[in-house]
Amino acid sequence: MPHAVPTFDDVLAAAARLEGVAHKTPVMQSSFLNEQLKATIYVKCENFQRMGAFKFRGGFNALAKLNDAQRRAGVVAYSSGNHAQAVALAARIIQIPATIFMPHDASPAKLAATQGYGAKVIGYDRYSEDASALATALAQANGLTFIPPFDHPDVLSGQGTAALELFKEVGELDVLFVCLGGGGLLSGSALAAKALSPHCQIVGVEPEAGNDVQQSFRKGERVKIATPVTIADGAQTPMVGAITFEIIKALVDDIHTVTDAQLVQSMRFYAERMKMIVEPTGCLSLAAAIQAGTSLKGKKAGVVISGGNIDMARFSQLMTAYP
Ligand SMILES: *Cc1c(COP(=O)(O)O)cnc(C)c1O
Repeated sequence: MPHAVPTFDDVLAAAARLEGVAHKTPVMQSSFLNEQLKATIYVKCENFQRMGAFKFRGGFNALAKLNDAQRRAGVVAYSSGNHAQAVALAARIIQIPATIFMPHDASPAKLAATQGYGAKVIGYDRYSEDASALATALAQANGLTFIPPFDHPDVLSGQGTAALELFKEVGELDVLFVCLGGGGLLSGSALAAKALSPHCQIVGVEPEAGNDVQQSFRKGERVKIATPVTIADGAQTPMVGAITFEIIKALVDDIHTVTDAQLVQSMRFYAERMKMIVEPTGCLSLAAAIQAGTSLKGKKAGVVISGGNIDMARFSQLMTAYP
């Protein structure tokens, strides 16, 4: 493994770097939800983070750690979504040149946002080209630093600062539900949870159609699947990261899955009851809490919303498709 596995100290160091730069996002409750589940549910709203998702935390932390020579040379990343915007925004703040590979069919809003932050965007074909290989090759050829979307100590340590804030605000929890793709948010959250709330049960939640981490968790080794078909586009990763899986194996208690219909049910709940727009992937955690139902009775549970980036045409399309 090329990198050391980070610890809670790395999450604390990331929080210091993010101080005054990242938003301290609100923690909200819904009395309706609390009554339904007969529990106290604390919702950590990373949909209100800068650029609309927790990914700003990890992207900024990774860039803030670069030395002067690395900063001058610039960074490269690939993403169809939130990591592209996160790296582009962090690079603009620190004044680092950024090149981002984005698929030709990336959403126009995400493309415009990434370019709007001043990044140079290069298109690629997501079905025939390997974006990770393209980014690594460009990094080697031009002396750039490659910033991976999840499997990097500085990225995952940054992501863990969201849960760090949650525990600092509400104290210890009985259970924490975290949205899960490649495992950056989950592994960082687990580092924070084990330090600040050692008895908290940590549950990662992925789409039922793409349960590679659940399979990996049960097998004890990483399982690769075909790119899953799900509306949770932030969790379409075919395989969990190597470093993130080390932490998940050691600290996470279980991996749950939910269906696309359950995700839309949670999107509707957030919009109607809590007046929030949450993207499908950001609903994984709440959908799992609702699925856990009466097993949460009398407990304090955390639900991390990972992001809110969805355009209204897609939002209304999903509301109509899953009435
Ligand atoms: C990237 C992303 C995820 C998955 O995060 P990982 O760190 O890859 O597990 C979940 N939700 C949203 C909104 C994301 O952008």
